[in-house]
Formats: sequence, structure tokens, C-alpha cells
Amino acid sequence: MSQMQAVFLPGNKQVEIRSIPVPEVGPDDVLLEMHASCICRSDLSLYYGNAVVGGGDATGGFVCGHEPAGTVVATGKGVTEFAVGDRVAVYLAIGCGVCAHCRRGDMHLCPKWKCLGFTYDGGNAEFIRVPARNLLKVPGDMSAVAAAISTDAFGTLFSACRKVGVNGLSRIGIWGLGPMGSAGVLAAKALGGQVVALDPIAERREFASKLGADLVLDPTDPQAAQAIREFSGGEGLTGAIDCSGNTAAHNMALDALAPLGRMAFVGENAQTTIRPSDQLIRKQLTVFGSWYFGINEYQDILATLSTHRIDLERLATHTFRLDEAETAFRLFDQRETEKAVFVR
Ligand SMILES: [Zn+2]
Ligand SMILES: [Zn+2]
Repeated sequence: MSQMQAVFLPGNKQVEIRSIPVPEVGPDDVLLEMHASCICRSDLSLYYGNAVVGGGDATGGFVCGHEPAGTVVATGKGVTEFAVGDRVAVYLAIGCGVCAHCRRGDMHLCPKWKCLGFTYDGGNAEFIRVPARNLLKVPGDMSAVAAAISTDAFGTLFSACRKVGVNGLSRIGIWGLGPMGSAGVLAAKALGGQVVALDPIAERREFASKLGADLVLDPTDPQAAQAIREFSGGEGLTGAIDCSGNTAAHNMALDALAPLGRMAFVGENAQTTIRPSDQLIRKQLTVFGSWYFGINEYQDILATLSTHRIDLERLATHTFRLDEAETAFRLFDQRETEKAVFVR
């Protein structure tokens, strides 16, 4: 049995590179050779040892990495729709396949789901084994890095933008300009919205400007709320997306929304305090959580990327080899990077 290198996050900011057997494919599985696998904010919950995804089973005992892309190198006997050589990204939720959520394409809502990189071996390795039904075929001219970013980063924000109802008349605020918020700027612009992007870190605001944000603001600037009002013609925002998980941002966004506005919570936060009477009830806002995307949305995600010629590689400010994993997670944790990607 041949061995491969794989990255584990057992907690306490430990990063372990172990040699483990290359997985064998079952009848409905494929084996991918990995070419790109992104680091994500949610990985840091494993890195610290307080996993937010996957419940009690997510204790760092699985290969991490839930945003992988690679090439099919082996297929199980029952696999008919994919072949060796296919270039693919991987949908992170492995569902039961038959519940109402799975059949709708929302495998991440399946009560029996397993999550790549948390409760199922993920992509920060030389190879990964996944069920063929989790493969997302990508166009020939899409790089592996772009394919990996098209899943959790762009896909999540595309889905959130859609739920917020972004269109050509929208005035959208995006709070938190890490990789998620940055992808949100790209998605909201592609769907036709005017975008104000907010983050206390100057480099992140500059980056969002380059990605097409119409206005960037430091949310800690006392003038910021007034600037949003002016940006929205005095009427308030039609939509807001919080990628920061920050209570001050939640409140600023709710305050900035116009009556009947819609807000998606994307950034993780176990607890927050808001003022329902002023912020929700009187304005009749719709506020909801959004994470990841339905696998049935991926076709539209690819179509949007290609129609608007969106170069997702721009979000990958840092690339690393697997053996540099410790540095990669440290820099990502310190917010020194936008999307950090393992490549090979
Ligand atoms: Zn992710
Ligand atoms: Zn299911």
C-alpha cells in the first residue's frame, strides 16, 4: 500500500503532517490527485480545537481541507459519469442521498451528513477519496486554484447574494473583507448590485476596491454610517451580508438597512446582541443565516464566473506546499493572507 502526506489539525494550534495510506476507492467513489486545496476561516476552529462544523466528531482526527480541487485518477466500479483525467472540485457535504434535503441538493442540511475536512478525510493531502456524486466538474480553462475557490468562498457568497436578492437595483453592504467578503464583492457585482464593503483593515479595503467595490469604508470610522446613508441615496441598503461574525457589524448592518431589506449572516458567531424592535420589527427586515450552497447551484456559479470573466485566482494571495502547512495556518490565522491555498 502506498503512502501519502496529509495534514491534520489536532487543536492547540498544532499542525501535523502525517504519512497515511492512499485511500482505496469503493464502488461509488473516485480517487483524486489533489492540485489545490484552500484554507478557510472555519478550519481555524479545528486549529484552535473548538470545531464549529461537524459537532462532537470534529476533533481533528480527519485530514483537514474542505475546499479541494484535483484530477480523477481512479474510479470505483459503479462510477459511470466521471472518468480518469476529469478535472473537478469537490462539494463538501456528503449526505445520505435520499432525505428531502439531499434530494433538493442541500446535502449540507442532511441530518446524517459528513463534512469533508471535519468528519470525513479532506483535501489537504496528496490524494482524496470522495463519492462520485460529490464531484463538481469544472471547465477545461479553469485553474485548480480557481476551482477550489469556486466552492466554499465564491459559492457560499454567490448563494448568500442570491438569497439576499441582489440585482441591478440593489445597494448591498458587505461587512468583513477576508476571503469570504472579498468573494462576496465579486458575486454581488456580477449579479448587478452596487456594493459598499467594510473592514477595519486598510489593506483589505484596498483589495476590495480593486475587486470592484463601489465604496469601501472603515466600520470603526464614526462617519461610516453617514457615508452608507449617502451611498444609498438616503434610503438605506436593500441588502447586507455579514462575513465578520462581529456584533458591532451585525448592528451596523441592521441599522443601515432600508425597510424590507434582507440580511444574511455568514460569519460564524455563537452569540450576538441586536435590538429587534428598532432594527427588525419596525423595518420588517428579513434576516437569515446562510452557509455554503446547494449542489444544484453550482451550474449557475460556473455560468456567473464565465459570463462575467471573474478571475478567482485573484483571491489567492498566498500559495503553499503541504509541507509548509504550519506556516500557512499561522499566516492565515494572523490575517496576513486573503485566500491561502495548498498547491501541487
Ligand atoms: Zn471553507
Ligand atoms: Zn440526506
